[in-house]
Amino acid sequence: MSTPKAKILVVDDELGMREGMRRILEMQNLQVDTADNGTQGVEMGVAYEYDLYFIDLKMPDLDGTEVLRSIKLAYPDAICIVATAFASIDSAVTTTQLGAYRYIPKPFDPDELVHIVKIALERRELILQTRRLQEERQKRMIEISREQSRLRTIISALDDGILVINQQGEIVLFNKAFLSLLELKQTIAVGEPFQTVLPQDMSKQIEALLSGNEQFKSIQQEIIIHPPAEKVVMANFTPIIGNDGTRIGLVSVIRDITALKKIDVLRSQFVNMAAHELKAPLSAVQGYLELIVDKALGQSTDLYDHYLTRSLDRTKALVSLINDLLNISRMEAGTLRREITSLDIQNLIEQTLSSFDNELKQHDLTIKTEFENNLHVLADQHEMQRLFNHLIGNAIKYNVQNGSIAISTNRDGHYVKIAIQDTGIGMTPEEKARLFEDFFRAKNEYTRTITGTGLGLTIVKKIVDAYSGMIEVESEFEKGSTFAVFLPASE
Ligand code: ADP
Repeated sequence: MSTPKAKILVVDDELGMREGMRRILEMQNLQVDTADNGTQGVEMGVAYEYDLYFIDLKMPDLDGTEVLRSIKLAYPDAICIVATAFASIDSAVTTTQLGAYRYIPKPFDPDELVHIVKIALERRELILQTRRLQEERQKRMIEISREQSRLRTIISALDDGILVINQQGEIVLFNKAFLSLLELKQTIAVGEPFQTVLPQDMSKQIEALLSGNEQFKSIQQEIIIHPPAEKVVMANFTPIIGNDGTRIGLVSVIRDITALKKIDVLRSQFVNMAAHELKAPLSAVQGYLELIVDKALGQSTDLYDHYLTRSLDRTKALVSLINDLLNISRMEAGTLRREITSLDIQNLIEQTLSSFDNELKQHDLTIKTEFENNLHVLADQHEMQRLFNHLIGNAIKYNVQNGSIAISTNRDGHYVKIAIQDTGIGMTPEEKARLFEDFFRAKNEYTRTITGTGLGLTIVKKIVDAYSGMIEVESEFEKGSTFAVFLPASE
């Protein structure tokens, strides 16, 4: 790209002077405009910013000082050279005060003119360069401040707490989440030493990191805000490395991990309970088998048969517990494969009831059903069978001899409502409140002889939740219970 020609405005009322200058300057590859009087000089000089102005001081219409004043007003760093045949100290002082770059007496020879113009244009180039630099700096400053305000907005909107500390241990930056996660009530000033502000265990980590030789090591630390584990945060400390490779501070990101901690605690409680529940029947079976192997029950085969049958029962219970556990773990892991089809609710319930034929007869239970026609749900058949198996199984298990079970289905808004009512042992309010807890089994005189895993309703609840349904329970101790399940109806 060729540099554009410098543009010069010559303001002179003398034609010979104007044209003479034009000729000399154009030979120097400069572009020249001329104005034949002061008024025109102001008009042209203000309308366009020339690289150089030659202004004759004495002109009949408008004095050169006025032209100079107007141009300087429009372009304060314009380079104006004042030329006059009537050289006087006075005019030199006035024009210099007005900001003229130079003052040159007429007449001047071409070489002198070329020399002056060359120096003036060099000066002009310097001015333009400075201006460009200033504009660039201005633009960059605007960009930087925009960037900074964008960053500030993002940092302050983060849920994670952010803290930045310099190598001297002064707090450089933090956000609101940082204060609230660590429950720091006082306001922190930028520049404050971190030790005066942060919890002691956190300060110790930071001190160790800032004083250690490890440049690139990140450290994680759990900080318990409310013991024992009511509120726990995880603080991550990472050194900030400068361009020269040295550590210039550290950044700490703080995250609330209370919910994760609670899940951890629940998981280990679950494993603990599961192990306990698995161990009880196994130990019983082991005991029975030892009696049999040791022939410790005498000669009567009846007794041996009795313990073998009990072993078998406990083993069956164990298998059903393991099946329940597997079901729960598949549902929680999300690995359960569901085949969703439209299922007729009446069909499902009738199938389940017929699978319980023996148990119903054993307990002399009467079944009453009231089905609304044509109710369907979109669901996996095995899962629905499991759901009704647990609910109807419980209505049988926890019923009384000669009791009854009433099952009704009806459309309730967007849901299909399935109510299973039994005339069984019912529950106390305390038992009812704990109904859906893992492994919960009511312990009273009626339940002592009834076997179960305490996981059936956990499974029921998980299935109902998986289909965005609801479950309601009403129960009265020694009177009976009603379990009502609401599943989204398929149209
Ligand atoms: P399980 O029946 O294997 O013990 P569940 O999770 O199905 O496990 O039930 C948990 C407990 O809730 C039962 O042990 C029982 O105490 C109580 N329960 C459940 N259903 C009924 C019911 N229909 N009537 C009375 N109590 C019930």
